[in-house]
Amino acid sequence: MRTIRKIERTFTATVVKSAMWFDWTMVLLTVAATMMGAGLGVAAAAPRVDTETMLVDLDHAVTAVDHFWEGHFTEMFGLPYTAPEVVGLYSDAPGTAPICAGQAQPADNAFYCPQGHYVAWGDELIAQGTDIGDAWAYFVVAHEWAHAVVAQLPASLVTDDQELQADCLAAAALYGAVAEGTLILEPGDEQELVEALAALADQTPWTTSTDHGDAFERVEAFNRGRTGGVGACLA
Ligand SMILES: [Zn+2]
Repeated sequence: MRTIRKIERTFTATVVKSAMWFDWTMVLLTVAATMMGAGLGVAAAAPRVDTETMLVDLDHAVTAVDHFWEGHFTEMFGLPYTAPEVVGLYSDAPGTAPICAGQAQPADNAFYCPQGHYVAWGDELIAQGTDIGDAWAYFVVAHEWAHAVVAQLPASLVTDDQELQADCLAAAALYGAVAEGTLILEPGDEQELVEALAALADQTPWTTSTDHGDAFERVEAFNRGRTGGVGACLA
């Protein structure tokens, strides 16, 4: 179980604008975090997020999302909360991809592995989404973390459409963090996430509509968590 991180430092995260796709207006202005050792500069206007920036966004997302669940899970459910282990960013270079249930995972996916209680995100999936905007990294982390949270819930609260429930809980955590001041987002994020989901629809295991729902269903679930919080995401 992780210790609760004391919020003592504010960072400026990255603004990414994509010339190819949209005027990406989501700005993660500040994330309170202690994971990084120094203030982060703003890497301006790169069409594609570089690896270092991607890692910073992912770290900020982990910090904000874990802080939210650590602060609320036990209070909400009366159960202990165990944060998943963060295997984090991986590539599918031979011999390096994480193994879950005996299977090496492709890099155009992100996943929660129940057997190891860990979360991991492939560099291809993150890079594809961050071509559109840096919110993608936050969304992927919050979604996988939600699977780890659901794994600790009583079955009576788990919905049949577990992917959409994860989208809903991802939004509940991200917007909960916003409400608590650990994350600052501009309005319109969910709209841009739809665009990212639509752009990647069926292109990756993570965005295939057969098991994750189509872009409309995903944003509907996301909006439900955004507006209704955790309670709106439970069976
Ligand atoms: Zn999922």
